[in-house]
Amino acid sequence: MPDFPKPGIMFKDLTTLLSNAEAFAYVIDILSEKYRSLEPAYVAGIEARGFILGAAVAYKLGIGFIPIRKKGKLPYKVERQTYDLEYGTDSVEVHVDAVERGAKVVLIDDLLATGGTASAACQLLRTVGADVVGLGFVTELGFLPGRQRLPKDVEAFSMLTF
Ligand code: AMP
Repeated sequence: MPDFPKPGIMFKDLTTLLSNAEAFAYVIDILSEKYRSLEPAYVAGIEARGFILGAAVAYKLGIGFIPIRKKGKLPYKVERQTYDLEYGTDSVEVHVDAVERGAKVVLIDDLLATGGTASAACQLLRTVGADVVGLGFVTELGFLPGRQRLPKDVEAFSMLTF
């Protein structure tokens, strides 16, 4: 979808994938099988589209789900990570007691663009004691330097690169 949410942005809309049972199942199956052998304890998903995908992957793997939310949404004590946007900053939060120390966590989001959101979420999970073992995306915008911004010691996997 061109020029959404603002002029010059080509928005990669996930809604048609989600409404197609076969496509949705395919994406969840690929992401689940990618991470099954790592035996993660949790899947973490980034609000909001990362919730839809991450929760389905967690269910498929038979493990718990951790929401990484925008500022001010979580009810209990949180850790916060702030990151730079093109103009200004944004923040992500997670409950301080979201994981046991050393628990293996796979982080899922729909799309990797500049990498700011995913690298902040990864840092946040590490702050609360997680061992982040994988970063999984459906889509990656390969013309942006998102990968360079991600931690080098965790594999980033995307199903589709534009
Ligand atoms: P970034 O922090 O720049 O890597 O942006 C990634 C986050 O913003 C993800 O949670 C995406 O859902 C969203 N996002 C950024 N750019 C796009 C885009 N072109 N189409 C759809 N979602 C996007």
